[in-house]
Amino acid sequence: MTPMIRAQNITKTYVSKGIETRVLRGISLHIKKGEFVAIMGRSGAGKSTLLYQLSLLDTPTEGKIFLSDEDTSNLSNEERTRFRLHRLGYVFQDYALIPDLTAIENVMIPLLMQGMSQKKAEEKSLKSLERVELSHRKDNLPSELSGGEQQRAAIARAVVHTPDIIFADEPTANLDTVSSKAVLDLLLELHKKGQTIVMVTHEEEYGALAERIIRLSDGVVVS
Ligand code: ADP
Repeated sequence: MTPMIRAQNITKTYVSKGIETRVLRGISLHIKKGEFVAIMGRSGAGKSTLLYQLSLLDTPTEGKIFLSDEDTSNLSNEERTRFRLHRLGYVFQDYALIPDLTAIENVMIPLLMQGMSQKKAEEKSLKSLERVELSHRKDNLPSELSGGEQQRAAIARAVVHTPDIIFADEPTANLDTVSSKAVLDLLLELHKKGQTIVMVTHEEEYGALAERIIRLSDGVVVS
């Protein structure tokens, strides 16, 4: 079976003030459809940088990334944006909700950007909020929600358009233990239903819940 994600010899080098920093030094990996993979390693190992390349939020210096067998290095900027909008979902450590929009309006954004009608987007978003047990808070602003609730709203937004892959960058970094567990439970539940998930975490306890751990050290995969 074709892997959902295939990375071939990815490198990423940042250049600032004439100084080159090689953050990823030749990473190749496969992630299967429906897998829940944790990317782990100590701070500075390159975990977030790898996630950004795999999720098309950034472009690698060298190497190729195939998502569902599509060579993403051939995509134009516009095609990359479309690919992200239609086929990928994102969860960030700071939730990345728009502060002036209510919970449900935040969840509706990807659908409206895809051109869905207001009414249909609202229906779908409400269902998505129900799935994360947040429908009773749908008209609240992010500032009126706890951190855990904000992250659950962000998950509702990440899955509302049924993406091929969810990318989560340290989704529990700013949460207490109880909220972290709730977020992990949600990801596990999505995984059980067949969702492909790639999550960066530095917390062993949460990484251990994934099906497989890809461990990075100094920009290379060590196990
Ligand atoms: P991790 O997620 O494992 O903590 P990161 O991927 O965030 O690691 O960062 C890896 C290294 O790359 C760090 O040393 C960081 O300082 C460097 N780095 C990350 N982003 C940039 C950037 N935009 N410019 C220069 N260096 C960067």
